[in-house]
Amino acid sequence: MKQPPLHYRIAPIAPHSHQFAVTLTVPAPQTGGQRFALPAWIPGSYLIRDFARHVLSLRAEHQGQPVAVEKIDKHTWQAAPVTGELVLHYTVYAFDASVRGAYLDKERGFFNGCSVFLAVEGQTDRPCVLEILPPEGKAFRAWQVATSLPAQATKASGFGRYRAQDYDDLIDHPVELGPFTRLHFSACGVAHEFVLAAPCLRLDEERLVRDVQRICTQIIQLFGEPAPFDRYVFMTWVTVDGYGGLEHRASTALMCSRDALPLEGETGVKSAYRQYLGLIAHEYFHAWNVKRIKPAAYAPYDLHRENYSRLLWAFEGITSYYDDLTLVRAGIIDPASYLELLAQTLTSVARTPGQQVQTLEASSFDAWIKLYRPDENSVNCGISYYTKGALVALCLDLHIRRETGQRHSLDDVMRALWQRRGRDFYQGKPEGIAEDEWEAVAEAVTGLPLKPLFDAWLRSTAPLPLQELLASVGVRSQWRPSYGTSDKGGWVDSTKPATGVWLGLRSQNEQGWARISQVLAESPAQASGLSGGDLLVALDGLKISASNLDTLLAPYRPGDTVQVQAFRRDVLKSFTLVLAAQPEDTVGLKRSDDDPARHSAGQAWLGQ
Ligand code: ZN
Repeated sequence: MKQPPLHYRIAPIAPHSHQFAVTLTVPAPQTGGQRFALPAWIPGSYLIRDFARHVLSLRAEHQGQPVAVEKIDKHTWQAAPVTGELVLHYTVYAFDASVRGAYLDKERGFFNGCSVFLAVEGQTDRPCVLEILPPEGKAFRAWQVATSLPAQATKASGFGRYRAQDYDDLIDHPVELGPFTRLHFSACGVAHEFVLAAPCLRLDEERLVRDVQRICTQIIQLFGEPAPFDRYVFMTWVTVDGYGGLEHRASTALMCSRDALPLEGETGVKSAYRQYLGLIAHEYFHAWNVKRIKPAAYAPYDLHRENYSRLLWAFEGITSYYDDLTLVRAGIIDPASYLELLAQTLTSVARTPGQQVQTLEASSFDAWIKLYRPDENSVNCGISYYTKGALVALCLDLHIRRETGQRHSLDDVMRALWQRRGRDFYQGKPEGIAEDEWEAVAEAVTGLPLKPLFDAWLRSTAPLPLQELLASVGVRSQWRPSYGTSDKGGWVDSTKPATGVWLGLRSQNEQGWARISQVLAESPAQASGLSGGDLLVALDGLKISASNLDTLLAPYRPGDTVQVQAFRRDVLKSFTLVLAAQPEDTVGLKRSDDDPARHSAGQAWLGQ
């Protein structure tokens, strides 16, 4: 017998006080008393967030009469047994200015299902209807709805009813509400929407659409048509300094800064726009790699507790590798610009002492307690599976290309994983990738014995053979000292005057002062006793500001001794530092055409 769907209704009842009201109707509750639970985390962001802490009030009724509800753990409620329809009413506080939660004020609303929709235990595989109501009042007349959920019965504004196959589907389509800008385009025949929540004065819409369309086409063609969705929605909240994104099966929620958008009359790809396009490519690539090709540990997700996998390097690292690579392959940036981005990733990993402490598999496994919970010592004890994962992906790609005489590449491995595990993920009985399966597929596709490389690159802290592999595609590497705190990496033709001396600390601007964020292991700063959190005051009697450290250090040479004063909490302390030489931890990359075979391998790699 086909049972009626679960019915969720959400209304932005009080934009000024950031509250959504939700009504959940369960046609056939469990006989012993229906349990309801809110997820403790949102897929794609591996940290326990306990969304239930924002549930403000909750009550249940049956045939108009109140039903007792008891809270039985931090995110689970149980209603007393009833026969027939049970209705739950609750409100949720929504003021999370990120892509991971829910937000509501008079300008805009946004929610992820994980923050607002209680799962009906034992019935999470049933279809759902979602009804989205507009806020009341003249001020909200221009509000619309954007979401990748398929509509069932909606007005032109988008308010109305949507449907979801099951709970997992319901919470995988974030919803944007407000008077936003909506652009449309098609890629490989698939309809795409591009939503920008913010007034965008003089936005070069044509250029933005053209560039994003190229990215989408490039990625669809990499995995092979057809795309795994009928429609895809990009939604970006534009703020003063926002940055971030979260992937979903047919959409992504993004944040970017105002200066990242291309304006009419601008030419060239400014670096904030390049970064935003890289983020777009990253989240779009995830629609294949992690939303469909996914670890068995996430199939299905257990949303009540941490889900452990040693494969996050493959899902985040490989996606990070392909995001910027997509921009050059799609012709949006040139090879020199791509190599600058790659050099910055190499530099970032080279400047992380934790790469000699934590393996990539350990970084993946411990995401929940390490990468997502950074502190002042993270740089010394851990490595990001995004950055080092991207470098392993690069090494794997270049190794496969070289060892198979350019017949195979990482693209073939991704396509094989797609065919084997990803393509049909949301149809039938989905199975994810077993922890040892990724490596087996890579060996089978390429015919190469890759196990020793995986052992070295994923399960040890041995350095990666980056210089040698980059040389195989005609890319020269330059390892040099940093020329100052703003130097993030990149090729330097002339010898710029390097600061010469090194403290081994990083700081953040705090109202014009420099607050130490990290002290690197084995550095002069660490040896002196300086620590993360200390507020720098003076160097040899001269005031240290947030931006003058390079200037203050310019006259010194390695081996010189300096006195530094700093506040630890409210106690002024003095530290003696013996300055060291700048380590050669800054990387530049440049193409060379000295060797035609290598140059043409590089052309193929970069899609030129
Ligand atoms: Zn990602």
